[in-house]
Amino acid sequence: MYNPKSMKAEEFISHEEIMETLDYAEKNKHNVELIDSIIAKAKERKGLSHRDAAVLLDCDIPEKNEEIYALAKQIKQDFYGNRIVMFAPLYLSNYCVNGCLYCPYHAKNKHICRKKLTQEEIKAEVIALQDMGHKRLAIEAGEDPVNNPLEYILESIKTIYSIKHKNGAIRRVNVNIAATTVEDYRKLKEAGIGTYILFQETYHKESYERLHPTGPKHNYAYHTEAMDRAMEGGIDDVGIGALFGLELYRYEFAGLLMHAEHLEAVHGVGPHTISVPRVRRADDIDPDEFDNGISDDTFAKIVACLRIAVPYTGMIVSTRESQASRERVLGLGISQISGGSRTSVGGYVEEEEEEENSAQFELSDRRTLDQVVNWLMRLGYIPSFCTACYREGRTGDRFMSLCKAGQIQNCCHPNALMTLKEYLEDYASEDTKRIGNELIERELKNIPKDKVRQIAMEYIENIKNGQRDFRF
Ligand code: SF4
Ligand code: SF4
Repeated sequence: MYNPKSMKAEEFISHEEIMETLDYAEKNKHNVELIDSIIAKAKERKGLSHRDAAVLLDCDIPEKNEEIYALAKQIKQDFYGNRIVMFAPLYLSNYCVNGCLYCPYHAKNKHICRKKLTQEEIKAEVIALQDMGHKRLAIEAGEDPVNNPLEYILESIKTIYSIKHKNGAIRRVNVNIAATTVEDYRKLKEAGIGTYILFQETYHKESYERLHPTGPKHNYAYHTEAMDRAMEGGIDDVGIGALFGLELYRYEFAGLLMHAEHLEAVHGVGPHTISVPRVRRADDIDPDEFDNGISDDTFAKIVACLRIAVPYTGMIVSTRESQASRERVLGLGISQISGGSRTSVGGYVEEEEEEENSAQFELSDRRTLDQVVNWLMRLGYIPSFCTACYREGRTGDRFMSLCKAGQIQNCCHPNALMTLKEYLEDYASEDTKRIGNELIERELKNIPKDKVRQIAMEYIENIKNGQRDFRF
């Protein structure tokens, strides 16, 4: 029944295969010999199968877990260096016809304030985001064919790309909207989107159907097969994710990796990113009602094991997570974070109080982008506003082959420094600017190739003198 090449959801996310995997992991979680052999395999940096990764996730031998964390850190360092890519979500509309039990935008919530941004309001939000320093957005909208038809999303993308306020520009728009048709995905591709993001929420079909009792999202197969349609429509960067807390985390972990294996087997390219959100409190949503909540320790272990299992896939945490939790997982494999986020429609322009009333979830990390950038640099990371690959056409398998050949890092590091320099010049506080300029000076020396270093130094000088938008 299990077949990663199948185009049927129930076959590439086979429930039986997941149950057998969990059983195998449980039986082998103390099998030191096997665990050692899996760790040795992981050290080759070619990833792990869902079965092998599930054994590492279950392993509760403290010394072995230390090895797993150390390896995750090393892989993170080897593939992503100390760079962290920054982005912000932009909520366009919270009208939604679905009945998701964990989200306050569900159709039956009659007291939440419903809002859909006009193009003028989008402009204002984008200007506010540009004035913070953001270059990369993820747009979000509920599913509602009447209020949020695809035409509205396409028009909004056009508006976002068209706004150039002062030195600001949104250079990559990722899109997180409901599962749709190949034809619609083709239109999104033509509109110039970066990654198409769709969270599975839960890979467990029965739970999925219970948690999505009404609306088009109820259809498990249609939702689970969405990435195949997106790829058929020409979108080659897709972002998957599971909402941890809904089902048993071991189940979701195996499901995520099987989904990645499926995309690789069928399309020759795995997911561009994996997100690991946890259920959060929100209007009429109490996370305690979902009894599969996971501890911070388990969360860190999931991140570390995913990092080892899919070294080439970017990993995202949002401001759902607290500063402390984010700090912990940054070192274990996260490559992208949001900063200064608002999770309500119109939240970047509106006053905070109003905003809370229509937020999709409560934020744990409410710091400004400048504070987040400052904090990252103090921890030794380079905040990066880079969007170069998408703009250079380095997407899908082209991107992955550069990644696998270890070449992409020759671009990422100087691009991170140049985009950080732009941020410092245009948006940073004095303190952030000081720390950032020191960091850039230090990091320029770490560019191994003389030629690249020299060009990067020239570009950075040009940025200081007012020019913008350089990239490798
Ligand atoms: S999770 Fe998405 S589809 Fe579900 S209710 Fe919320 S906005 Fe609608
Ligand atoms: S060069 Fe490409 S992979 Fe590297 S940070 Fe920029 S966009 Fe991402």
